[in-house]
Parts: sequence; structure tokens; C-alpha cells
Amino acid sequence: LPGNVLLSLVKERHMGLLADTMRSTYGIVIAPEKEKMVEDYLASVIKMNEKLNLTRIVHEQEARILHLEDSLTALPLVEDALPGRYADLGTGGGFPGIPLAIASERPTLLVDSVSKKIAAVKAMVSDLAWDSDIAYYAGRIEDLAREERNGFAVITARAVTKLVSLIELASPLLCMGGRLICYKASLGKDEVSSVQAIQKLVGMKLIASKEFALSNGDPRTLVVFERRGSASVKLPRRVGLAQHNPLA
Ligand code: SAM
Repeated sequence: LPGNVLLSLVKERHMGLLADTMRSTYGIVIAPEKEKMVEDYLASVIKMNEKLNLTRIVHEQEARILHLEDSLTALPLVEDALPGRYADLGTGGGFPGIPLAIASERPTLLVDSVSKKIAAVKAMVSDLAWDSDIAYYAGRIEDLAREERNGFAVITARAVTKLVSLIELASPLLCMGGRLICYKASLGKDEVSSVQAIQKLVGMKLIASKEFALSNGDPRTLVVFERRGSASVKLPRRVGLAQHNPLA
């Protein structure tokens, strides 16, 4: 059978699986048309990955867990945040940003400094039958923070940089009471103490951390911060400093 026919047969067989897992494991309900859309998006990413390195996870079943299920575990946290725009920082191939944008229906901005990745995500989104309110920023988070100060109610970041750097990068982008949701495998003691040392300085507060296992057994911790006040250092600092010379 030709590749595209095979792919749609495989997809057909899997329809319902993701929604079942999300409901039975996490109590998260995903409507069938949204499930189809995220599955279609994942299929485009796997295909696009033959030309452009977007992800190292290309095995279908593994990708469904590590890209779709994992991304969607933060849906209740995104839905609980204040009304307003959502941004995914360091979105890469569009995770967790695209599944969360589809499922939450929030106006969304996808951010990555690699313009080829942003162009690829944009092309793949335009292939979906999706009336999206989605925008793209090809550039550094620090530069975005100069243009969109306090512009977001909720931000996510997966596999981008350390927590201590993320809270500094996200703070100027968040509105007061806005939330940053970070995807981590586990939360080390050192990482928590660095965060505690600087969170007040950058106007952020650690408010929750939720540990669980994905359905393949991989550990996952969702760490949530809230913008609580003004930073007492001038943010954003110069490009690269948050990641290469963190405040703690
Ligand atoms: N979030 C995606 C995921 O989990 O599959 C991609 C993770 S990838 C390991 C990290 C991404 O963050 C890269 O695409 C990189 O270009 C982007 N990135 C890192 N630092 C950044 C910054 N300061 N501004 C914008 N993008 C950044």
C-alpha cells in the first residue's frame, strides 16, 4: 500500500486511543474533532521530520505519548489560568503549544529562536482544517519580552532551559496573576533552592508542583509559577544572560 494510505489506516486504528487515555488516566476530556486534529498535526510532524530535524521521537506510539499525551496533561492548568493569551516558549516542533492551543482554544503565540522550525510549524498548522487564533514569533524570548510586556495570561515551556532561567524569561511576559507551567522529568532539590533564591527578585512564586507518570512509565512533574509582583532587577536582561548567567 502507498505510504499515505498506510498512514491513514494506522491513524484510523488509533482514533479514540488518545482521548481514552486522557480521560481514564487524567480525567481530561478531549472532543473527537480535537483528537483528530492533534493526531493529524503529529502525522505532519513525523513526515516533516524527514526533511527538518524537529524531534528525535518519531516512532508513532512513542510520539503519541511523548508529544500528544504529555502536552495535554497541562490542559486543566491552562484552562484554570486567567483569561487571556497563551504562549509556548521554545516550541520546537509545536509541543506542547499546538495540542494545548487546539484543546484550550486560547489565542496562542508560538515562540522559537530557530526560524526554520517556526516556518515548518506554521506550514503544518495551515494544513489543518482549523480556524485558529494562532501567531508565531521567530526570535529570542528576551526580544519578545521587550515587545509584549505583560501580554500573556499563561505560558508553557518544555525542554527549553532550567527553571531558574525560565522564571526570569517568563516574568516580564506575564500579566499580574499570570502563570508559567514548566514540564520537567523530575524536580531536583538544587533546582528548587535556586528558584527559591530568586523568585521574589523576578516577581514570581512557585505555587504548585504535580508529579505523575506518563502511560509509558516516564516520570513527569508539572511545575507552576505565578507572577506575583514587579521584578527588582530590570527584565529582560541582555539576550543569553538568563540561560548562561542565571541569577542563582
Ligand atoms: N518544546 C519543544 C518540545 O518539548 O518538543 C522543543 C524543545 S527543544 C529541546 C528547545 C527549543 O527551545 C529549541 O527549538 C530552541 O530553539 C528553543 N529555545 C531555547 N532557548 C530559546 C530562547 N531564548 N528563545 C527562543 N527559543 C529558544
